[in-house]
Amino acid sequence: MAKYIFVTGGVTSSLGKGIIAASLAKLLQARGLRVTIQKLDPYINVDPGTLNPYEHGECFVTEDGAETDLDLGHYERFLNIFTSQANNVTTGRIYQTVINREREGAYLGKTVQVIPHITDEIKRRILAIGETGEYDIVLTEIGGTVGDIEGLPFIEAVRQLQWEMPEEDCLVVHLTLIPYLKAANELKTKPTQHSVKLMSENGIHPDIIVCRTERPLNADLKKKIAQFCNVKTEAVIEAMDASSIYRVPIKMLQENLDLIVLKKLQINGYAAPELTKWKEFLEKLKHPTSKINIGLIGKYIELQDAYKSILESFVHAGAMNECKVQIVNIHSEYITDENVSEKLGGLDGLLVAPGFGMRGVEGKIIAVKYARENQLPFFGICLGMQMAVIEYARNVMGLKDAHSTEMDADTKNPVIDLMEEQKKVTVKGGTMRLGAYPCTLKEGTLAYKIYGHSPISERHRHRWEFNNKYLEQFENAGMIASGKNPATGLVEVVELPNHPFFIGVQYHPELKSTVENPQPIFVNFIKAAKEFAEQRSKAKTAVLQNETIS
Ligand code: GLN
Repeated sequence: MAKYIFVTGGVTSSLGKGIIAASLAKLLQARGLRVTIQKLDPYINVDPGTLNPYEHGECFVTEDGAETDLDLGHYERFLNIFTSQANNVTTGRIYQTVINREREGAYLGKTVQVIPHITDEIKRRILAIGETGEYDIVLTEIGGTVGDIEGLPFIEAVRQLQWEMPEEDCLVVHLTLIPYLKAANELKTKPTQHSVKLMSENGIHPDIIVCRTERPLNADLKKKIAQFCNVKTEAVIEAMDASSIYRVPIKMLQENLDLIVLKKLQINGYAAPELTKWKEFLEKLKHPTSKINIGLIGKYIELQDAYKSILESFVHAGAMNECKVQIVNIHSEYITDENVSEKLGGLDGLLVAPGFGMRGVEGKIIAVKYARENQLPFFGICLGMQMAVIEYARNVMGLKDAHSTEMDADTKNPVIDLMEEQKKVTVKGGTMRLGAYPCTLKEGTLAYKIYGHSPISERHRHRWEFNNKYLEQFENAGMIASGKNPATGLVEVVELPNHPFFIGVQYHPELKSTVENPQPIFVNFIKAAKEFAEQRSKAKTAVLQNETIS
């Protein structure tokens, strides 16, 4: 039977509940336990797939094609496991299930209510993961902050589970903030006391309090929090701001968070934490031997969460190459033919990001042209790959009006077109081509060299595709399709053999990069960017030497 850990948050949002949950899960996994994490989101959307990235950051797609909260990305990157639809549940999905059941007649004669019907459905979704028998521990992170009206049914479900289960089968970790007041030169515990009080009013008593803080908590302060919040002093955990999210598990290990959990859950016979690979990664992250600038061209660059998985993939691949990857965020809307060399001139590599809709696409196309003509390593993801195809059609093949029908429904040259199966789709939620599909790579290509085998499997989220009617024309002109879906022939990878590193992928490789398994395209892209940077600095030195001689 699985044991359950609930992670709640108080005082304010954005405390990094997902990172704390993932760090605790990592430590338990490192001690030999089988662990997974689930996120319960209190909003009414059935999933975050229809949300603008400005609202909710990136939408993370799982192997089974679920569009989920970006915290699932952290869970996968930390634990090196796959999550699934069952790992992310929203209020919308809970209500949808209950309402559908009501219509089917499942509750005939009964009034359907928040308690017990909604709470029962929440509990069912929590327990279902544990009942698979695949895990020793299921961590469930409750989104939002205690006290939010929309979170109440989730908190009530946790209360009921805590009451129903043997004491050693579940525990509650509460994450709060200990603010530092500069004027008083003091850390303040009152907001935490209030937050725990609010939890108690809802019938939940946290077993462990994790305190986010800018400054260390001394023993007196820990004791005070413990006393007022009615937990053991050892169960007050300091979570100081860290230089990297990947250091948080180590900090939690130093605070004995995992041992306190194991004790409460009465789990014996666990191993010493096996974190060799994790620590090697941290060492490399701390001591890079080189530095490069990668341009990230997108339209949501004001909000870093919009490209979370891409940014984290660069952290993994950078460490593997012992290279510090500096991301230069460039807004695609403001790139023009006139300013492109000024904006992209200092870069060692260019990544054109995924996206939807018209805004900023012309800037992306101009950026691709610059990378192609200047031998700058280029990596296009999803819409980024589609833009590379359009750029090649327009500027190399002479199809001046080439476009995607997503942006120009009447183009004479729809080199990117709506997938056949999408043409009858009218409903927006969960209807894209989603999740993992196989892809066959052509031997001798850059893609094959990068992965080292074929077929591969990567995750998707799109409606448009490369228009195969143009494939021969493209290949004759020098852009080849090096990866295809074996069943449908859908072009998954394009590349330019006469360029040092130019690759566009229809899928989202960033969704599968983890600390222990950096994604190979990212790893090789960094390698190519490093070479580009070295050549550039050699060329610069040569120019300087020549100038000195003359
Ligand atoms: N808008 C494009 C499509 O739907 C690309 C999607 C994406 O970048 N995820 O095909």
